This record gives sequence, structure tokens and C-alpha cells, in this order.
Amino acid sequence: MVGSGYDFVITTDRTMMSNHHGKEFIGFLATGPAYFFPERVWLRLCCPKPKVDKEGKPIEAPYGLRKVEAALIDAGYKAAIIDPDHLEKHLRHAKAVMVGHHDYFAYGPPSSEWWLLTGKEPVNRVSLMRFMRWLGERKRRYGFKIIVGGPAAWQWLWEPEFWHSVGVDTVVDGEAEIVIKKIAEKIVNGEPLPKYVYVGASDVPSIEEIPVIKGASVNGLVEVMRGCPRGCKFCSVTLRPLRFMPYEKIEAELKVNREAGILDAIIHSEDVLLYRAKGVIPQEEPLIKLHKLFTKYTRSLAWAHASLAAIVTAQRNGKIITKLTDIIYSENEQDYLGVEVGIETGSIRLVRLYMAGKAAPYPPEKYPEIVEEAFAIMHEHRIVPAATFILNLPGERPEDVMATVELLEKLRPYRSLIVPMFFVPMGSLKGDKRIIARVKVTPEHLEAFRVAVRHSAYWAKDIMARFYLKGPKHALTRFLLSRFVNLVESKAMKILSSLEHFEGKELTIERKELPQIPA
Ligand code: SF4
Repeated sequence: MVGSGYDFVITTDRTMMSNHHGKEFIGFLATGPAYFFPERVWLRLCCPKPKVDKEGKPIEAPYGLRKVEAALIDAGYKAAIIDPDHLEKHLRHAKAVMVGHHDYFAYGPPSSEWWLLTGKEPVNRVSLMRFMRWLGERKRRYGFKIIVGGPAAWQWLWEPEFWHSVGVDTVVDGEAEIVIKKIAEKIVNGEPLPKYVYVGASDVPSIEEIPVIKGASVNGLVEVMRGCPRGCKFCSVTLRPLRFMPYEKIEAELKVNREAGILDAIIHSEDVLLYRAKGVIPQEEPLIKLHKLFTKYTRSLAWAHASLAAIVTAQRNGKIITKLTDIIYSENEQDYLGVEVGIETGSIRLVRLYMAGKAAPYPPEKYPEIVEEAFAIMHEHRIVPAATFILNLPGERPEDVMATVELLEKLRPYRSLIVPMFFVPMGSLKGDKRIIARVKVTPEHLEAFRVAVRHSAYWAKDIMARFYLKGPKHALTRFLLSRFVNLVESKAMKILSSLEHFEGKELTIERKELPQIPA
């Protein structure tokens, strides 16, 4: 019977439950505050509602939710992902509602940067908190449990009052495939639940324990490996064991997406080129096999992430980048490839201190040259990176930031979007529990921001014209978006100018007073 069958309802708020018009980068608009339009219009523009079936199950859903759903179904539970607009009819009978998110309270990048710079709460935080308050109110009415998890689960530790006021029963921090079944069992048996579960080494799933998704993932995302061998000190991914998904599992998920009519794909890995690598040396044969497998089922694909050192190593050792892009562009209907990359810094001192593995197999001293060479290789192969760099790492000196600025200037000829991120230390400050993050802004930081904004605004228009919106039929949209990019550039420059009086002072994020949930 519609709306009465699921013991475990899996969901999230609108900023996550959307395919963002098939373009992941559009989803990033929800990580900033709403500008030019009211928040609800902004939300509609960047996070359109997905198609759903008669029960409210989305055709495409976030990959992490799909894994939780598959783990529960394989264990024999009645579980389904439900769109947030269709939850009401399922809640009366649900034993638990499970919520996942990438950035619950906007403490992750790039949300926290926009929040710090503009002083306005990002749309994703506003949307999530509104949704959780609503869910907390329904919990009081119907009595189900609320379990939250996902890559941003740690953020609940910084919102204890909200955690309590909403009535979240358990926070699951880490890979959930095994732990979620133990929690489901406790719920079914009426046993008490732990408040917080950190998934330690003994509960990290092996390849065999990672289930195949049962329904399509947003934009056809399919995971090919977990973990990363580079060991950057600021990154939690590196704590996880390295595991490569077998071709059979990857193919099974490609088939699920294809059967749902999803013809585009994202190859998900922290470093796609390290799929079945020897250490940090990319291997031609498995990479070619992987890409041929994807192109068999897709119309277009993107790489989730690749490291710049792997791009250089792959191209220097047998022109692997040329071979992979030849396969992609000849087998698929696409003439460019999107990817996220991390520049992080131009300072050799900071590379040595925090991320020596980023440059491997080359020494840290070579890192700035590796970055530039990787950008040149990508430009030549029509690979369009969305790149990030980090400011405010602990112990950072003005000369470190200027080394980054110098590197960014060298990247100017290469087609790419470059986004700055602040390393944001968090925690309640003595005497004012509502201040949760602060960053000391320096003139060098502002210069790095300016260089990045100019670079990205210039190349954004080129990328739209050449790839995303080419041809006469998109002329109007291209014109409007180009005006929009100009507006964003001038707004960003104004914000940066207004921040000049902050030089040497601190920007803070403040937690607002929380409204009470009606009894
Ligand atoms: S290369 Fe990227 S994913 Fe790997 S440890 Fe460093 S920051 Fe994390």
C-alpha cells in the first residue's frame, strides 16, 4: 500500500536531493548565501526537485543514501529513499528516518568561506535546519527515531543544542554500510541506541561488504575506489583503508543507472588515476579497462577528483591522459571532461609540512612545477578542472600565500575554475559560545582571492561558450549567464574591497539563537 510499507525511510533536504540540472557545479551555488534572488527562488534555481515515483521515491538519489538503502535491503529490511516533499505519508509507520548530508551546517568548504566573507548564512544550512526542525516536530507526533550520518556527520558535534532540540537519536560518523545494519537491528528490537558512533577500523566495510546500489545515483555517480594513499595531514580520507571496486561491481552499478535512463556518469574516487595504481604510479591497463567499461554504458562522463601529480605521472609514463581522453571523446558524446583537483598551495614549505604526498612520486620542491604542468596537460586535452587552494593553514606565513599567488598567476593561460578555501579552525571560544569559527584575514589572502575571482570569471565565460552552452540555440542563455558571471565578479570584488578594513582583524562565524520546537 502506498506510503505505509517502509520501516526505514532514508532522506535528506532539498539542497542534496536534486540532480542540480545534471551539473554538479550548479549544486555548489547552494553552498553560498542567496544573492540577487530570494532564498526560495535561489534554491529552485540550483536544486530543482527530482522526478519521483508514486510513492515519492526519487529516480536519482545521492550515492551515499543509495549505499545505506542497499545495505538495509540486502539485510532484509524494508527501506527506501523518499524525497523530502513526500515524507509525510511514510512517517506514521516508519521506525526510523535516516538522514545523510555532505555539509549539514555549512562548516565545510566552500560554505564556511562564503559565510565568513559575507556574514550571511549559506542556503544549504538554512534549508537543512528548516528541514530538521520539521522532522523533529514530526518525530514528536509519530515517535520514529532519527539517525543522521554521511561525510559531514562530525558537524553535529558542533551543534549539540540543535542535536538535542531536534531529537536526533544517533549520529553515525564514518562509512555506514556495516554500522547502519546494527543500528537497524537495535531499533527493530527496541534496544537503546548509542548517541554517537565513530566507525573504527573493525567496522569499515571490506569490498565484499559494500553493496551494489538498488536505484540510480545522482548524475550517474559510481564509486571505483575508497581511500587515498597520499596522506595529507588535513584530510580524513587518508585514514580510510585503500580499496578498489572490482569491475563486476562497477558494471552492476552502471547497469542500474542505465536502466533508470541515466546516461551520464561520474567516476568517483579521491584520485581516479590511482584506480589499481602501483602506489602513486597510475597503471595504463586498468585505467583503459575502467574507461572502456564506463563508455559502454554512458553518453558522457566526468572524473570526480584527480591529483595533479597523478595527471603528470600518467602523461609522462606512456601518455595515459591522451589515451584515456581519446577513448572518452571517441566513444562518448562529449568533447571535454570535468574534474575537481586540489592545488592547495604554491608554498613548498607548506607542502613539506602538511602534504608531502601530494607531489609524489616527485619531491615537494617540484610541486609548483607539477601543478603548472598538470594544468597545461589538462588544457591540451580539454579537461576542465574546478580547482581549490587552501589559505590559513596553521603556521602559514605571508610569503607562503604570496607563493600561492605567484603560482595562480602562472595558471592564468589554462582553462579552469579556481576557488579559494579557508582552513577554518572551529570551536567555542571562551566567553562566547556562539562564535564557532574565526580566521585572521591578511592582505595576501585578499590578493589570492582577487586573482582567483578574476581567473575564474574569465574562464567561466569561455567554458560556457565552448562546452556547456555552445551553438546558436544557447545564445540567449549564454548571454544571460555571462552577464550573471560579470555580476558575481563585481559583487565578489566589492565584498573583497569592503574586507580591506578587516586586514589584520578576524572574521567570525556566529551561531544564531535556535528557535524552539513546539511541544
Ligand atoms: S590527495 Fe586529496 S584525498 Fe588524498 S589525502 Fe590529500 S587531500 Fe586527501
